[in-house]
Amino acid sequence: MLKELKKDIQLILRGYKLIWTIDNNLIIWDIFRALLTVVSPYTTIYLSARIISGIAAGEPFRQLMFYAALTIFIQFAMSLLTRAVTRKVNAANQTRHDLFEIYFSSVNRNMQYEHLENPETHLRKDRITRAADASGFGFTYLIFQIEGCVNAIASVILSVTLTASLFTARVPGHTDGLWGFLNSPWAFLPILGLLIFQIFAVSSLNRRSADVFYREIKNFADQNRLSSYYHGMLEEYETGAEIRLFHEAPLIEKSWLKTLIHPTYLQNVIRAQSRFARIRSCVGFVMNISLYLFIAAKAYLGAFGIGNFVLYTGAISRFVNAMTNFFGNAVDLKANNAYLEEIFAYIDMPNSMYQGTLPVEKRAFCEGGDNEYEIEFRDVSFRYPASDAYALRHINLKFRIGERMAVVGKNGSGKTTFIKLLCRLYDPTEGEILLNGIDIKKYNYAEYMSLFSVVFQDFKLLSFSLGQNVAAAVQYDPERVEACLREAGFGDRLEHMPDGLETYLYKSFDEKGVEISGGEAQKIALARALYKDAPFIVLDEPTAALDPVAESEVYSKFNEMVHDKTAVYISHRLSSCRFCDDIVVFDNGQVVQRGSHDTLVADQNGVYHDLWTAQAQYYVTE
Ligand code: ADP
Repeated sequence: MLKELKKDIQLILRGYKLIWTIDNNLIIWDIFRALLTVVSPYTTIYLSARIISGIAAGEPFRQLMFYAALTIFIQFAMSLLTRAVTRKVNAANQTRHDLFEIYFSSVNRNMQYEHLENPETHLRKDRITRAADASGFGFTYLIFQIEGCVNAIASVILSVTLTASLFTARVPGHTDGLWGFLNSPWAFLPILGLLIFQIFAVSSLNRRSADVFYREIKNFADQNRLSSYYHGMLEEYETGAEIRLFHEAPLIEKSWLKTLIHPTYLQNVIRAQSRFARIRSCVGFVMNISLYLFIAAKAYLGAFGIGNFVLYTGAISRFVNAMTNFFGNAVDLKANNAYLEEIFAYIDMPNSMYQGTLPVEKRAFCEGGDNEYEIEFRDVSFRYPASDAYALRHINLKFRIGERMAVVGKNGSGKTTFIKLLCRLYDPTEGEILLNGIDIKKYNYAEYMSLFSVVFQDFKLLSFSLGQNVAAAVQYDPERVEACLREAGFGDRLEHMPDGLETYLYKSFDEKGVEISGGEAQKIALARALYKDAPFIVLDEPTAALDPVAESEVYSKFNEMVHDKTAVYISHRLSSCRFCDDIVVFDNGQVVQRGSHDTLVADQNGVYHDLWTAQAQYYVTE
């Protein structure tokens, strides 16, 4: 039990620590507001008691007026301050969702690529987001609890301070009997017993109410995820054309309707919660009555005056309230830990990739370095984590800086996987990849990655300005961006961009943003690869939207563009890579041939010859 409590507290503290690093404003202002809201009622209780004591003791009128004025002033000042702080709390809450999403995207960026490609990872993240958005669980819940917990703790401290004298004030003239018992330290016991009873009763009630909530909300979150998927499909204009042409709307709508759970979940939650809340207030009521009787008996027997009677009753009822809230919050926090565990399991997803420390530059660029790169695949085989079949088998390949290499092969022959291993998105299952004779695992991961500029098949441009897209940065060198765009063949189109490099792509952020064709997008993606100025450039069939002639043009032009860089071209269209002297042919995960176009095509038994004749047929007929 203690172990579990310790684990729970550690989890909650870790949650708050993370919230603090993401946005400490949230915590600061919430605590501040909680303290402000506590001050006002307690000063009122204290000063009212003083006024009543003053009246009873016949204190001067001016003194009493002073107390009254002070009460009003403090109330007024606190309400003004609370309003100002509430503005801060609201402002922090408005940015909260986005700040957390930004944090999670950094988690995704740094996670092992294998996890990122796993659909289960996305489902897990989705569940976390939906639990937060739909029901406020996870970090959101911790944030909402800050105020309640601080308020409850401060209230308990203030109540105990104000009522300490209740227990020491002695009933005069009674040493034994029932009234004498009020003076004995044993008088605490029934009150303590009641308090402990209340703690346990409320805790167990809250736990049961939280269980109902957790169960129901889980269903709700799952349904919510499906709804937004269907909603997205129907709303996205990219799918709009297909939905119209294939009359897919009824299919989507029917599937959507089928997933809808009858909305009893909310009724169940409300019913359970209100039932438990009623029992909770009964328990609180018994506690209150007992304490009132205790105070009333002591006051009646002359242990203290009427002023203190007001003070104690006011403070005690707040104390009972605070305790109830505090234990309510504690149990709710425990229920929320199930979500926190899910979040931390996501954040802590293990990264089993060996992270070396060897700096890449020192090997190659710096003084004393040989300024040459040589990459070697040495008997590399690879299997995707969730797959039994090898995507690559016994690859042996070497290429040097400044060389051009084309990788060709049918779809599914392993070309993209080869690039993923080259860029170390995955590590080989067997064998090793060497950079200048050293296993690439031994290099600093980020530095190694920075050697590569890749244009993937499914590259994405952003709804930012053209210049920012090419530079992949907010600030950029306009001359260099322009030069890269011209080199990539985008020069003419650039002349017609209404705001030049400042023109927004697409219309997501700017109504004047331009829609670009697939071919234009590819040129921009090429320009981005050039701008990065990395020693290796890889084109992984980025030209799928171009016709074979245009694709061939891009590839042959790219040959000039890459200057002295090492370039790897990947294509399943052999005509595009014809210009390249070094063509590597992949088939079924293996390198089956290597050489120039002329030598490869001459081998009539080779895969290349088959592919070439099969593809050439179409071009000839065209
Ligand atoms: P290519 O680029 O030549 O079309 P790929 O390298 O994409 O081929 O694929 C090689 C093989 O690996 C294929 O059989 C493909 O189905 C499989 N594969 C690709 N990506 C994954 C993945 N993420 N998980 C499991 N198998 C994959």
